[in-house]
Amino acid sequence: MKLFGKSLTLPFTKPSISKRDQKYIWHPLTQHKLNPELLAIKSAKGAILKDESGKTYIDAIASWYTSMYGHCHPEIVKKVKAQMDTLDQVVFSGFTHEPAVELSEKLMEILPKNQSKLFFNDNGSTATEIGIKMALQYHHNQGNDRKVMLALEDGFHGDTFGAMSVSSLSVYNGAFEDHFIKVIRLPKPDGQNNAEVTKQLKSILKENTIAGFIYEPLVQGAAAMKTYDLKGLEEILKLCKAQDVICVADEVMTGFGKTGKHFASDYLSQKPDVMCLSKALSAGMVGMGITSCTKKVYKAFYADDLAKGLFHGHTYTGNPLACSAAIAGIELLQSQEIQESIKTIMSLNQLFADKMRKHPMVGEVRQIGVILALDLNLEMERYGNARDEMFQFFMSKGIFLRPLGKTIYILPPYIITEAQLAKIYAVIEDYLSIIEERALKV
Ligand SMILES: *Cc1c(COP(=O)(O)O)cnc(C)c1O
Repeated sequence: MKLFGKSLTLPFTKPSISKRDQKYIWHPLTQHKLNPELLAIKSAKGAILKDESGKTYIDAIASWYTSMYGHCHPEIVKKVKAQMDTLDQVVFSGFTHEPAVELSEKLMEILPKNQSKLFFNDNGSTATEIGIKMALQYHHNQGNDRKVMLALEDGFHGDTFGAMSVSSLSVYNGAFEDHFIKVIRLPKPDGQNNAEVTKQLKSILKENTIAGFIYEPLVQGAAAMKTYDLKGLEEILKLCKAQDVICVADEVMTGFGKTGKHFASDYLSQKPDVMCLSKALSAGMVGMGITSCTKKVYKAFYADDLAKGLFHGHTYTGNPLACSAAIAGIELLQSQEIQESIKTIMSLNQLFADKMRKHPMVGEVRQIGVILALDLNLEMERYGNARDEMFQFFMSKGIFLRPLGKTIYILPPYIITEAQLAKIYAVIEDYLSIIEERALKV
């Protein structure tokens, strides 16, 4: 504290942010009895997070796949700051504004050509929730008795009720399962089982009750970056579309370059009817979601009858600051610099993946775009809580990774330097050496 140019020492020092946090805050996905103290991050720049003691960490998962252009990117900061001085917020029902219009034009440049309308919302769960509503109401509006959603096993689509319902049943959903919407689950095609999956799907479709099919195209994020068969997915989409089942691609994780193309759906010839976007959409700056759809879907809602509209809206929908962050993000994604970085990360990941495939402690290795996942070859029981041990080890070495079960995955921001990437690989190898040594001792 400064008074008249002189430093004044306070009689007591304020407790750390981590300590103050414990008094009032209830964190997401956290059992506080098991995690009493959480690390406080004070600042971030590029691929680096800095905690309150000054220690730095490489953000190897781009803060859950949001900050893909790096933290506090000057172009994004500049655009959002300028927007703050012009228009901060206005009701998006009955009004519109330039940042939303400009974003819609920008997004249409990169979305698959069949997408034609954008429904703005707030986050990944609302984006999928609305996708599910679009599928159900599309049929309702036309008087079809189709009330069931089809979803892939092991999928994750968010934490609200509709999104939870179509996600794979997990131990965390016990209190809510009685209230879920109706869902039928289909195994993931893996190349070997494609004929079996197709057969199962045909018999499901015979009942004519399926309104929509929701899927994470090519890679399931929360299931530990599980990849599955492209041809098998094409076949599922083809059969669904032939029966007017609304195909909802959840690209909340895969969107905006992570798979090496702007969207994972760009790898497929069967395009979705609906797409769910969030996470990197607003470049890690302000939360936002968008659900896009085709003309066909939109037309089922466009009517003289008010009740046929989609009566869903969140208060902050279309927030101008979030829109301007998203515009800046898309401009960066389209830049040659970012496209080249994506290619560089992909080829470096490829080299590391090849090396890891030969490592005795590594089982399956999955790589698509900038996403790299390594399943460790260990029986979790013998190692106790390996996931927490890994997390602590990486953090102590200055790398922020969040292993899922026995899977270590990286999804680095596109602006990561080759040296930073090399450090991530080296620390992963260090960890593998430790567990290899331990395995040899047993
Ligand atoms: C993160 C995620 C969601 C949920 O997004 P939130 O913003 O956390 O609600 C939905 N689908 C997928 C594929 C995701 O990765």
